[in-house]
Amino acid sequence: MSAKKDNVKELKERLFVKRENGGKIISKAELGESFSFAEEYKEFLDKSKTEKESVKYALKRAVENGFEEFDKTKKYNPGDKIYKINRDRNIVLAVIGEAGTKNGINLAVAHVDAPRLDLKPNPLTEQHDLGILKTHYYGGIKKYQWTTIPLAIHGRIVRRDGSVVDVVIGESEDEPCFCVTDLLPHLAKEQMSKKMSEAIMGEDLNLLVGSLPLEDCEDSSDIVKLNILKLLNEKYGIVESDFISSDLEIVPAMKAQDVGFDRSMIGGYAHDDRSCAYPSLRAILDCKNPSKTTITMLTDKEETGSDGNTGSQSKFLEYFISDLAELDGVAVRDVLTHTKCLSADVNAAYDPTYSSSFEPENSSYINRGVVITKYTGSGGKYGTSDATAEFMGEICNLLSDKNIIWQSSELGKVDIGGGGTIAKYVANLNADVIDIGVPVLSMHAPFEVISKIDLYMTFKAISAFFGNI
Ligand code: MN
Ligand code: MN
Repeated sequence: MSAKKDNVKELKERLFVKRENGGKIISKAELGESFSFAEEYKEFLDKSKTEKESVKYALKRAVENGFEEFDKTKKYNPGDKIYKINRDRNIVLAVIGEAGTKNGINLAVAHVDAPRLDLKPNPLTEQHDLGILKTHYYGGIKKYQWTTIPLAIHGRIVRRDGSVVDVVIGESEDEPCFCVTDLLPHLAKEQMSKKMSEAIMGEDLNLLVGSLPLEDCEDSSDIVKLNILKLLNEKYGIVESDFISSDLEIVPAMKAQDVGFDRSMIGGYAHDDRSCAYPSLRAILDCKNPSKTTITMLTDKEETGSDGNTGSQSKFLEYFISDLAELDGVAVRDVLTHTKCLSADVNAAYDPTYSSSFEPENSSYINRGVVITKYTGSGGKYGTSDATAEFMGEICNLLSDKNIIWQSSELGKVDIGGGGTIAKYVANLNADVIDIGVPVLSMHAPFEVISKIDLYMTFKAISAFFGNI
């Protein structure tokens, strides 16, 4: 029996998973929309390089869009928009549904922390006339990538009198930036023969912050350090011990920028996970009169395991949902059991230069749309929430019905590594959870790359899940 050519074509069309460059199937109008969405997103990226700045940005947009601070002594009606902030580092934004919380909640969660260098509690030292800030890296980084690039300092210092000063330095052209030095190749024979993971060690990530001694100084010890402290004291009113009570984060000083002759991609710092946080924020701002109460949460500490009172293992979200459930007169356990969640986080985009780390049938690709990830984890699906077939079916069908370009993938080859998201922590509340998000090239590097189409499709996916479209 031989299948005719046309028949084969028809069968393939009908039976195979479609794997196409979204650029081929997207309409001109929608491509235009994805490019304009990218402009808004780049602005967000440049303004929000840390978790606190992201929460501040989200709060501003929320207030502009009629969200009010949650007050559990008030009564809320369908369509009301509320927010609650946890320690300036998490925000939940909710729109009250027609049925309130009694049929569960629709939830999108994304994280707004990103890999970076943090300052140590006693960071400032002078070594051979150079002023240096000692760092402790945050999250999974390839340390060599953080040398010899312009860096900025963002964060918060609590002074000994209890007053708080927020700092951003190194972002504008009239400000100085900072950097971590590296050894010149001429003298790096020994360094270059080391394993990549050992060529630059954590204690080598020293931030260069000054070199001039205090003017007219007769003393000769630590006068570069003294000069730096004097400048910091004049500008921020701080003394050395104030570093002990600070969250100072060292991030790339670069701005987000289009990548490629066709401008189809965006390069920038912290697409992981702001390329999912921004769509989650935008989708809740657009959400009007949902049938179920709908929530976006932006969370912290994902890159270090979601621990602590601002990570998604904290009870913050559960307490907030409890308060809403109480107002509706329903048990929070019933609300959580019927809750559906998109854990909006990035996946690794297939990189042809490093093809041996990917299994091509189960990788996500630039421009093939929002990626649905059934499970993450590593070494035999350890440490993950594996979404049920039923919930997978529900989300895949929703995206197809709404003509959203989507793909499905794992994170790299089996047994080659792995990673996790906050999906499991929400799933532990007995909710249905799935990971969806944007494929990223060079994930966790100071300059990551995503596609504008994938970013826009992630926004559309969350919008569809919230019932906005
Ligand atoms: Mn992430
Ligand atoms: Mn990450």
